[in-house]
Amino acid sequence: MKSDKTRAKKRTRLCQMPTPGNIAGRSSSITNAFFNAIIPIIQPSEEEELEALQILGMDPNDIRCAYCGGKSTEWDHLRAIITDQRPTGFITEIANLVPACGKCNQSKGKTEWKKWMVGPAKLSPTTRGVIDIEDKIARLSKYEQWRKPTRIPIEQVIDQELWKEHLANWSAVRDLLAKSQKLATEIRLAIEKYRVDLRNQRA
Ligand SMILES: [Zn+2]
Repeated sequence: MKSDKTRAKKRTRLCQMPTPGNIAGRSSSITNAFFNAIIPIIQPSEEEELEALQILGMDPNDIRCAYCGGKSTEWDHLRAIITDQRPTGFITEIANLVPACGKCNQSKGKTEWKKWMVGPAKLSPTTRGVIDIEDKIARLSKYEQWRKPTRIPIEQVIDQELWKEHLANWSAVRDLLAKSQKLATEIRLAIEKYRVDLRNQRA
């Protein structure tokens, strides 16, 4: 027997209602922004791009997602540049980028690429029943061997005071987001109370 809760969830709405959102819910994009902002980006030459696509077996005029073969819309970091809220030391360079589609990029997140491809994550290539998955894995493994990736022990090579200041700023922004969310909720509830009082007066 289904509970009321499940039944309520199953109800189909004619249109999706807007939600109040959550200011503090932006915390992970703030974290990404703080670390993305410090990671070096090396622009590849045209030859390097062509070589990369060749290893992946792709036509430069029809670039596909390296994970699922769908239409590519972006470059994805093969090895994550941020995990556990810290920079991994890998940087943005051609040997660490593969063409990907938005679905794969979001589904993969910070998981190790091969583990994710064969794993049960929502929208992973295995979950979506992507064909030639073994071939795609073989291509990506070859790509991984192409060049030794740059890995910089970021937290050790920069001035400790600068690093501490950066982390403190990050923390202050997150605290402010949480504080702002609390205040916004309080304000929304006060407005809601006013609305209910107004309705009761009219009734
Ligand atoms: Zn894809």
